Amino acid sequence: MNIGFFGGSFDPIHRGHLALAQAAASRYALRQVLFVPANVPPHKQKQPLTAFIHRYAMVALATQDERGFVPSLLEEPEFTAAKVRSAGQPGAAVPTSGGVNYSIDTVRRLKQTLKKSDRLFFLIGIDAFRDFAKWREARALLAECDFIVASRPGYSLRDVAESLPEDLRTPAAVTRPFRKQPAKGDLVLPGVTLHLLEGVHQTVSATAIRAAAAQGKPLARWLDPRVADYVRKHGLYRGKHT
Ligand code: ATP
Repeated sequence: MNIGFFGGSFDPIHRGHLALAQAAASRYALRQVLFVPANVPPHKQKQPLTAFIHRYAMVALATQDERGFVPSLLEEPEFTAAKVRSAGQPGAAVPTSGGVNYSIDTVRRLKQTLKKSDRLFFLIGIDAFRDFAKWREARALLAECDFIVASRPGYSLRDVAESLPEDLRTPAAVTRPFRKQPAKGDLVLPGVTLHLLEGVHQTVSATAIRAAAAQGKPLARWLDPRVADYVRKHGLYRGKHT
């Protein structure tokens, strides 16, 4: 079975995230997409993050209507997954160490619970992929699963090629002509497959949503109504988290 792994801070989860997951699921026949809120994402250690439990709750609300979308506790800080696990759910019973989460560790733990016949796809937006070479064991992570990189207008094939870890990077002289080519199709390198997913054009970001919430603006445009309601009820992003 094809399974998607979609990690993020999801602070909060918004329509852009859902659009990416829906497009990937339909294009690559993903029977499940695990939405994995990060405890402390390595690149966001300095910025305050809403409590894991709120971010997880919002992911659970936003994914309710999609049969294959699964809110995941893989990176839950204090391992409570055992208490809520349901039998047979990929990754449901895997403990975490807390603290900063590196995708390579989470993916390896998840893979221990999958069947040999399962194929894992790592979902990521191209903006996040631009920093990919700096990730811990980036090369190893590419070897662990297929990647689905959601491209956006304005990004070229050269942007993707230049974001790869150094040993996979083609010399700039070779990739220069790629700058006019849209990021689409598959990039197949030794032991690595990157699928470039087009058609996800939601310009929303969680940063903009938090700013709008802080100003008391309506959020319905960007959020699932249940998530918008949750944000309002808990006063999230308004300096009075409950
Ligand atoms: P922030 O604004 O707080 O940095 P974000 O909106 O980028 O947050 P994250 O939780 O950091 O959301 O992102 C998780 C993943 O979702 C990343 O791979 C990111 O590239 C992707 N993503 C975020 N926003 C969009 C969007 N509008 N369209 C497609 N992918 C997105």
